[in-house]
Amino acid sequence: MGKIQELSERLANQIAAGEVVERPASVVKELVENAIDAGSTQIDILLEEAGLRKIQVIDNGEGIAKEDVKSAFKRHATSKIHTRDDLFRIRTLGFRGEALPSIASVSVVTIETASQTEEQGTYLRMKGGAIEEHRPSALRQGTKIIVENLFYNTPARLKYVKTLQTELANVGDIVNRLALSHPTIAFRLVHDGNKMMSTSGNGDLKQAIAGIYGLQTAKKMRKITAKDLDFAINGYISLPEVTRASRNYLSTIINGRYIKNFALNKAIVNGYGSKLMVGRFPIAVVEITMDPLLVDVNVHPTKQEVRLSKEEELTILISKTINDVLREENLIPNAADNLRFKKKVENQEKVEQLSIGLEQPKKTKSGLTFNRETGSFYVDKSFQQPVEKSVDNVGDKSGKLPQESELPVENETPDETSYVQEAPPVQYEIQEPEQIEPLEISGHEEVNTKMIQRMMEEEAPQQRFPHLEYFGQMHGTYLFAQSQEGLYIIDQHAAQERIKYEYFRQKIGEVGDDLQELLVPIVLDYPNSDALKLKEQSDALKEVGIHLEEFGASSFIVRAHPTWYPAGQEEEIIREMIDMLLTTGKVSVHQFREATAIMMSCKRSIKANHYLNPQQARVLLEELATCENPFNCPHGRPVLIHFTNGDMERMFKRIQDPHQSRGGSE
Ligand code: ADP
Ligand code: MG
Repeated sequence: MGKIQELSERLANQIAAGEVVERPASVVKELVENAIDAGSTQIDILLEEAGLRKIQVIDNGEGIAKEDVKSAFKRHATSKIHTRDDLFRIRTLGFRGEALPSIASVSVVTIETASQTEEQGTYLRMKGGAIEEHRPSALRQGTKIIVENLFYNTPARLKYVKTLQTELANVGDIVNRLALSHPTIAFRLVHDGNKMMSTSGNGDLKQAIAGIYGLQTAKKMRKITAKDLDFAINGYISLPEVTRASRNYLSTIINGRYIKNFALNKAIVNGYGSKLMVGRFPIAVVEITMDPLLVDVNVHPTKQEVRLSKEEELTILISKTINDVLREENLIPNAADNLRFKKKVENQEKVEQLSIGLEQPKKTKSGLTFNRETGSFYVDKSFQQPVEKSVDNVGDKSGKLPQESELPVENETPDETSYVQEAPPVQYEIQEPEQIEPLEISGHEEVNTKMIQRMMEEEAPQQRFPHLEYFGQMHGTYLFAQSQEGLYIIDQHAAQERIKYEYFRQKIGEVGDDLQELLVPIVLDYPNSDALKLKEQSDALKEVGIHLEEFGASSFIVRAHPTWYPAGQEEEIIREMIDMLLTTGKVSVHQFREATAIMMSCKRSIKANHYLNPQQARVLLEELATCENPFNCPHGRPVLIHFTNGDMERMFKRIQDPHQSRGGSE
């Protein structure tokens, strides 16, 4: 007999399981996607021990007919595609027929299901892929599938047992995205008896966002829509003041499928231009509808990666749409809001959420708390050893980080640093968790839609940039101005940076030949490898006005620079730009210009503690008003804040705060 043998179906399934269901979160994803494909309007996901002990997914979809139940667990058995052509117009989430057999091969699976055209349901129990029990059962609406002892027969189990909190965070993340991709389905995620998240399923994406990221965040999100011949875009993006330290809060959805695509995420971030602080990312949910022919989802077994035929056109459309929406916004943060925000999150949100029937953060058995504001799980402080602060790649590659003291007071809930993913192991069982109702579907609680709608009503649009009347300076740092709308405080350094940045960015954009000879040419020596890089990228340098003349194998001479280089700092700037290019490696001319403009603007700006006479201050404010984006410095910090007339009157108790007494005069 030859050496080559065909693998048994069970072994083949176990091998496939390694790809399709590599972790508890991917099992949840596959089961929930099946429930979505079955046309469910309600999906409950109930976990024990982050899913390793038990995952239950209960739906009210079309169910599986008696004769199909066993086949559903056969490899490559699917009801979703039939021919090769179907593969090119996939409208379901599944189609490979791999998930159920893979899951069944590494766990104990019980399924109870019924098709509405039959008189009886079916019960099937399998262990490690082998059938243990198969019998008729009561009729029911939809399917309940239970996966127990996941990975019990594989070495992977041990690995996941050690990282329960990370696994739970991953499950939470995937359920959030599935819920965001399907606002018409009511989702509920319950872990160890505690509700982690729920959405109303009334079809309103903004309400789904509120259910997942919290009301405060949803209120600070703006709608985007766009359409061209190939794509329709729909969704919500956060105002630049609401940011997160990672890209985890960017969700891109193509034809109802949540996908991971670096280029699309980047397009979202690019849409913000310089309005975001360096190293910070917005929250966004972007739904894209396109002809299924333009997207190939059959790239990876988990189907989260896709190949797009017109990716570049799509990225441009996304960036432009976001850019347009943010340009319309008055982006001056309200000062009183800023100060109130932290308290709001702690107090007001409690009240608001209770009143609309949403949940409080709850601790789970494993000491994990669900943070509504960020939509993720974190380890409660009382369970936690100190965590090393994770800076999460703040700053650019040149190694420049914004100084801690430079960072603005953020509209954030605390503890971004203690997210599960980075956190050390937690200790279990410190608090008795509250129990909620038993596990069968019992109808999702009514979320008070009107209430949410009212709370999310956007304020009337205001004039984009106010006419500022200057009246004073404080500590050589802040300028004070007034308008009809109230009081403005301007950070003079940030304002100057913004003005200079826009000036340099424009200058760098115009590559002219008005060069100024240096009195003493600069000679630059670099190690061989760097010299090679510089020769390769000499075009990028020319674009910002640096002309390197080769001088021996690894030296260069610079004899001139554009006339608009800041006087007295020419050499320093030239050296820094070259260093920047060397440390960042290959950059596009566009990125390099941008970075250069930021660098130059920082250098020349007035530092704090610098007295401006009233004339200089007025000129500064006038220049600011002409900026394309007068609201943020190039690092994304606010340039000015605003106290409305109403805020002032409330602070002096001239009018009653509507938050304190309902029906107060305003
Ligand atoms: P795929 O989703 O790629 O078709 P799966 O292995 O995930 O493959 O599921 C196999 C088949 O089982 C599906 O094609 C579908 O017909 C059926 N099925 C699985 N889960 C459900 C469910 N919750 N409701 C109805 N049918 C289901
Ligand atoms: Mg499937």
